[in-house]
Amino acid sequence: MISHIRENSERIIKSLPEKVRLVAAAKTRTPGEIMEAISGGVKIIGENYVQEAREAYRVIGRQVEWHFIGHLQKNKVKKAVEIFDMIETVDSADIAEEISKRCEALDKVMPILIEINSGREKNKFGVLPEDAEKFIGDIKSLSNIKITGLMTMGPVSADQEEARPYFTETRKVFERIERSGFYGVEMKYLSMGMTNSYKVAIEEGANIVRIGTSIFGNRE
Ligand SMILES: *Cc1c(COP(=O)(O)O)cnc(C)c1O
Repeated sequence: MISHIRENSERIIKSLPEKVRLVAAAKTRTPGEIMEAISGGVKIIGENYVQEAREAYRVIGRQVEWHFIGHLQKNKVKKAVEIFDMIETVDSADIAEEISKRCEALDKVMPILIEINSGREKNKFGVLPEDAEKFIGDIKSLSNIKITGLMTMGPVSADQEEARPYFTETRKVFERIERSGFYGVEMKYLSMGMTNSYKVAIEEGANIVRIGTSIFGNRE
């Protein structure tokens, strides 16, 4: 259903406060569908899989920004850093080190967000809220990454009010880190909220929202 993607994008962009950046979450979508979203004003594409991103990137190129929003595997980092302008899901020192190392070879500094497991879900990725400062301490001296904020998913639920406490907690971690004033760390972006939760996420301080379904329709 390519037909409404452009209108959906325009409508969502119009509804967002000016300071909130929209990432169009494009997993499983074709380059043609992504181009429709771009024609509706989308400026940032979020991808979960490096291979899929490469295929879209080959067609679309640098007319938009590319954010990685999936779980990054070490053996994909080299290819990822060639494409992405931001990696939103850093949650291990191992991956942070690999990103820094691969970026050094390209003479590039990668903006990253720390993924917070705000729901404390055992099967989910991310750093626990109480471990965020220690994690930042562990990776902040890496030369070719720049910590620019936090990202969280939170437990999936149909009722967006159920997501609110997880967003509130992530925002509190964000503010705590901001107050700590880590050298070289700039708390600029708070990426929270998807189709079913972005309105509440914005109320709780998100300035990046990642929206797939309301732009592109249901995934098959
Ligand atoms: C798919 C995805 C989204 C968007 O989800 P929708 O419910 O389709 O809006 C946001 N963030 C991440 C990390 C995703 O994988």
